[in-house]
Amino acid sequence: MNIQLKTQGAPSASRPLAGKVSLVTGSTSGIGLGIARALAEAGSAVVLNGFGVVSEIARTKDRISADYGVRVSYSPADMTKAETIAEMIAATLTGHGRLDVLVNNAGIQYVAPLDQFPIEKWDAILSINLSSAFLHTTRLALPAMRKNKFGRIINIASAHGLVASPFKAAYVAAKHGIVGLTKVAALETAEEGITCNAICPGYVYTPLVEAQIGGQAKAHGISREQVIRDALLAQQPNKRFATVEELGALTVFLASDAAVSITGTALPVDGGWTAH
Ligand code: NAD
Repeated sequence: MNIQLKTQGAPSASRPLAGKVSLVTGSTSGIGLGIARALAEAGSAVVLNGFGVVSEIARTKDRISADYGVRVSYSPADMTKAETIAEMIAATLTGHGRLDVLVNNAGIQYVAPLDQFPIEKWDAILSINLSSAFLHTTRLALPAMRKNKFGRIINIASAHGLVASPFKAAYVAAKHGIVGLTKVAALETAEEGITCNAICPGYVYTPLVEAQIGGQAKAHGISREQVIRDALLAQQPNKRFATVEELGALTVFLASDAAVSITGTALPVDGGWTAH
């Protein structure tokens, strides 16, 4: 499902990732979409993935390609299904010829007390936020990266990969798991030109967070503003949401040659939350 192929040129200061190919899971919305845009702006071809309305996804794809002059394709792979993930990686390698930057971003959330946590929600969160997406994509991307002696694996974890909050058992378990997987991948690839790092955002205003705001306002009979101030940003000392553009800029840096010595880290982007 590729669209126009434009000359990407050689890497330069303004387009450090020219000639590279990036795959961002869960990039039809929120943080993943912001990261995909940032990678494209830095000159990388991009493979989008995620759910949504087909016509809107096609528009997003055309828009990114037109704005940044890079080739953009889309995979509808469901991150709970190993075989569709394998097809996505194979289509990337066939269609684009390489895979340099893998951003494991797709994720969902569900909030409930531990003893009432629905088993199917636990399974879905572990599957999308940890097992299927991260293990399968990373496992399948590594051979191509090893062949090129270059790779950047960037896992979008969370502040909840470093600390816990009540009622988020599955999410916190999955995100701590990603931080562990990041370290293992970094150690196993350290001499091969490949790095693996986790980005650990605090709250970023996206549809995923909007759903929590609406849900908590309804559950507790309080206003959206109260939820934002007293529940969400109460954790975040700088009292502001991080932006998808900030996460995009960090991802581009981690994908660049300048970040070659940074591997195995879990980088908080949380306004000081985990400094407590
Ligand atoms: P979002 O809901 O805006 O986007 C999630 C993306 O994942 C969408 O593109 C969706 O289609 C895709 N997705 C969901 N299930 C999928 C599946 N089974 N297969 C393929 N794609 C699937 O969420 P977001 O806030 O942008 O979150 C993105 C990532 O960032 C998640 O891993 C989340 O845990 C993490 N994160 C978010 C925040 C925040 O405050 N928003 C903070 C820390 C970490």
